[in-house]
Amino acid sequence: METIILGLGSNRGDSKAILAAAVERLSAVLTGLRASSLYITKPQDYFDQDDFYNMVVSGGYTGTPADLLAAVQHIEADYGRNRAGEIPKGPRTLDIDILFFGQQQVSLQEPPLTIPHPAVYRRAFALIPLLELHPDYCDPVSKTPLAVMLAGLEDQGVRKA
Ligand code: AMP
Repeated sequence: METIILGLGSNRGDSKAILAAAVERLSAVLTGLRASSLYITKPQDYFDQDDFYNMVVSGGYTGTPADLLAAVQHIEADYGRNRAGEIPKGPRTLDIDILFFGQQQVSLQEPPLTIPHPAVYRRAFALIPLLELHPDYCDPVSKTPLAVMLAGLEDQGVRKA
């Protein structure tokens, strides 16, 4: 069994209710699920949109990375996610990123899947809730504590909801 870390975000629809429902659904996918507090984050990359609600969940998983991606994409789709109709990096009802999959490094073409998630290291909205759950977590690639990585980032204005 691997310890999985997922990053969840929403800035469209009733984001708090959507994230609460997504956590409930994920509790059937991950064993011993733990959920961080909810955080509010200014949009990055594409600025003309509402602030995001973000959180992190962790738990155990026995399937493959591709199985987990299919499971989280199923949950995204059930909450109205329609990638074809979206601005890239723009408003979305529910986004679930696989941040870490135990110590594994994954690079798949089909389905497209890169783990650790390449953006996790520069996103305070992922690192802050992750460190709330796992204060001593180290990057499986560089072995650097994520707390050290976070300390090296500029203030991104992430605040508790
Ligand atoms: P997004 O639109 O931001 O949800 O991106 C989803 C796309 O990113 C899908 O095509 C996924 O297959 C791909 N992807 C690649 N790596 C990851 C990851 N670590 N977690 C979630 N999706 C990923």
